[in-house]
Amino acid sequence: MKELKINKRDKKIVKVREVEFSSDKCVVIAGPCTVESEEIIFESASKLSKMGVDILRGGCFKPRTSPYSFQGLEKEGIKYLYEAGKKYNMPLVSEVITLEQLDFALEYLDIIQIGTRNMYNYPLLKELGSIDKPVLLKRAFSATYEEWLLAAEYIVSNGNENVILCERGIRTFENSLRNTLDISAVPYMKTKTNLPIIVDPSHASGYREFIKSLSYAAIAAGADGLMIEVHPEPENALCDGRQSIRLDEFEEMMISMKKLSAVVKDL
Ligand code: PEP
Ligand code: MN
Repeated sequence: MKELKINKRDKKIVKVREVEFSSDKCVVIAGPCTVESEEIIFESASKLSKMGVDILRGGCFKPRTSPYSFQGLEKEGIKYLYEAGKKYNMPLVSEVITLEQLDFALEYLDIIQIGTRNMYNYPLLKELGSIDKPVLLKRAFSATYEEWLLAAEYIVSNGNENVILCERGIRTFENSLRNTLDISAVPYMKTKTNLPIIVDPSHASGYREFIKSLSYAAIAAGADGLMIEVHPEPENALCDGRQSIRLDEFEEMMISMKKLSAVVKDL
């Protein structure tokens, strides 16, 4: 592959307010799949901030496979997310799926998420090159490492060096789980670029009982962060409830993840 601008990028760290995506710490992003109501996002933010979660997530413009599924609260959801983040002092990440949504979202969010279905949306990627906020770029579920790196290159070469890569599982012949977590993406990306790389075990597996093991695997592989779906009542979630962890269970996981990160750091 031709020498890319992402490789010449001199910064090793992406900073979001006080949170740094660097190799020193595994940044934790957590929250519900979707901002379903003001109450749910406030309850989530209140509990997650106390657990030491670094960044709050919550989808508002949802790219659903079925047009009949809940499509998200859109602008209203972004406002609830913003208010919750303000009250509990948490930076925010949420997905944008069209160019038109970008200006509005930039007023409220700290990180713009580009989902798996939009990794190939080149006009959107180019526009993200001119914003002054970090972009969380998810890997398309069938993208090669090269295609994913070139998608990041669209953003960096257009002027925005603050890109965070996110491995969220790919499609393979295995269909017992929602996707297959490609853990090799973590060390591979570290040999190719100094962009931070995080892992989303929730969409990678689709089932909450696997999230803990996959999160540990990501930490052991050297991931710079994790993005995990949690919900106060997963059984009633409007989206991705089966892969969402209850807040109390997540609290225990946070403690063990901190312990593991400390061990891995000393290796
Ligand atoms: C999400 O994180 O809300 C999401 C829709 O993920 P993905 O784009 O990886 O499916
Ligand atoms: Mn989801």
